[in-house]
Parts: sequence; C-alpha cells; structure tokens
Amino acid sequence: MTKIYGKKVAMQRIESFRSSGRMPHALLLYGPKGIGKHVLADYIAAMYVCEDKAHAPCMKCRSCRLAMEHGSPDIAYPIPGIEAEHAKHTERSMVSLLREFIASCYAKPIEGSTRVIVFERLDKLSVQMQNTLLKFIEEPLDFNRYIFTADNKAPILQTVLSRVTAVSVDPADREEFSEALTEFRPEDGHVITAERVSELYDMFGGNIGAATEFEAGGENVQYLAAALKACEATAARRELDCLLALLSVKTRDELFDTLGSMADIFAQAAACKAGAPLPGAFRNHTKSIAESFGLDAITAMYNELNRLYGKSYTNPNQKLFAAECCGSLFSAACRN
Ligand SMILES: [Zn+2]
Repeated sequence: MTKIYGKKVAMQRIESFRSSGRMPHALLLYGPKGIGKHVLADYIAAMYVCEDKAHAPCMKCRSCRLAMEHGSPDIAYPIPGIEAEHAKHTERSMVSLLREFIASCYAKPIEGSTRVIVFERLDKLSVQMQNTLLKFIEEPLDFNRYIFTADNKAPILQTVLSRVTAVSVDPADREEFSEALTEFRPEDGHVITAERVSELYDMFGGNIGAATEFEAGGENVQYLAAALKACEATAARRELDCLLALLSVKTRDELFDTLGSMADIFAQAAACKAGAPLPGAFRNHTKSIAESFGLDAITAMYNELNRLYGKSYTNPNQKLFAAECCGSLFSAACRN
C-alpha cells in the first residue's frame, strides 16, 4: 500500500468525513508545494471509487489500482489536458475548453457510481476559469465529487472558497520525515546520512516532497533556490540582488512558485514578529527577514507578494514582471 507520510491532521479530517458518511462535495487540499497534496488527492479519489466500501481505499481492488495509476475512467484530472489543448490551438480559450469538459460531466460515471474530478492548482487558474468552475460546483450532481489542490489560498476567489471544504495539509513530523528521507534514493543512488536528514529537516521542516526534490538536485528546485536568494537579498536590502534572483528562474511557472515560496517565508516572519516561535522550515531565512523589518513592513511585503502571485500567471512578459515584483516589494518595505 502507498504510504501516506505526514498529513496526520488532514487524514484525520478525511477519515472523520468518511466514517460519518459526510464526505463534502468539494474538497480543497491546500499547503506548500511538495507537502503531498497530490498523493492525498489520489488517495481520496481511490476512496471514492474503491469496490470495498467498508475498507476504502483498500488499495487491492481493480478500481483502487487504476486510481493510483491515474487510469480510472471515473477519475478525471482535466487541467493538464486543457492547458495542452490550449497551447496547441491558442484560438481555443481555456474557459471554452473547461466548459466543454464540464458539459461532459453531466453524463453518468462510466464504471462505478461516483465520478471524481481533481482540479490541480486552483490558485493558478484565472478569475474567469474560477468563475466557470464556481457555476459547476454550485449546482453539484450527486454522482460528481470535486477535489481541488492549491499551494496558496490567497488567489482563490472568496465565492469559490465559500463553496469548498478547505483542508490544510501539514508537514510530516521529524520521525516520519527521517523515515521517508532515509528510504529515498536519488537517481545517482547516493545514500542520505542521518546528519544530512537532520540538515534537510532544518531547512524544509517536514516538507518531504521539497526535501527530496532538493536532495535529488533536479531542475525543479530552481524556484526554491531563487526564492531563498531573493529573501536573503531583501533582508539585506540589496534590491539589485533580489532582482537578479527573480530573473534567474527560466519559466513563468517557476517565477510563480518563487513568489509563492517567498510569501510563505514572509508569513512565517510576520508570525515570529507577533510572538510565534521560529518555524521548522527555512528557519534562517525567516529569522533574517524578521530581524530586518518591522511587522508593518513585513505584512505590507507579504500582501504585495500575494498580489503579485495572483498576477504572475497572466502576465505576458516575464522579465518586466520580475522587475515589477522586485520594485513593488522594495517600495512596500520603504513605505512602512
Ligand atoms: Zn479498493
């Protein structure tokens, strides 16, 4: 069976919905990138389609296996397909492709009695897309269930939030983190020592996905390296270095993730200013932001990061946008 690390509180909530027979129509799983929202979404999707209702998800029946392989005809992950179709035929808008998909969901599920629709990265979807989804979830059909995931709740419309049951997905504790990292083998096969596990825990708190990606040294941690550099530069009030860090990411998606990670660190710094203990993840960066600025400035910069984060997906020119981000971040700091 797939081991679900961490996420204890989230799992308990899901289990209590399930055992009381009150699974919400629309669930939103939210938490930082790498925390395991997608693993959890797959698990819940399997729970819905499992043939063994008393032990769902049993992870043994055909429906569970298909669910974990993303091969179930009753579980849809429409967003990547819509994005790909839109990239191929740009004259077809994302919204019209989404409407087409929604129309197909009014038919009954193919194999079982429930269809599960997983919308990944709700926070990345435009206001228009979110409004289209809103109409869909406002008039739910009995056989459709929705699971949304998001790194950040800020860009999600209030109207959408009011229609979903939001479940926060939390980091693993130190013990589970150690177990997962010790089992993890990067592609080059190097063994992760206990000292290294402890270093990674200090850096990432219990975020197993982020730590394993970082340890594997892949391209997809560029955003994190950029976010950490940009935070260091901001704490030292070096605007040019902050700009260079934001310019170092290659794609718009990475810039989006960079801003999201910075917002997480600023949120932690604000909490520290208000008396919370230093967090597990990005402790040193959080500390230097908290020491460099007052609470008002940190809050203003955090708000600015969230505003920019909401905007970054639609902004056409990445380099100009990086410059705008840096400029507005520093002016928010100066005004406060
Ligand atoms: Zn099953």
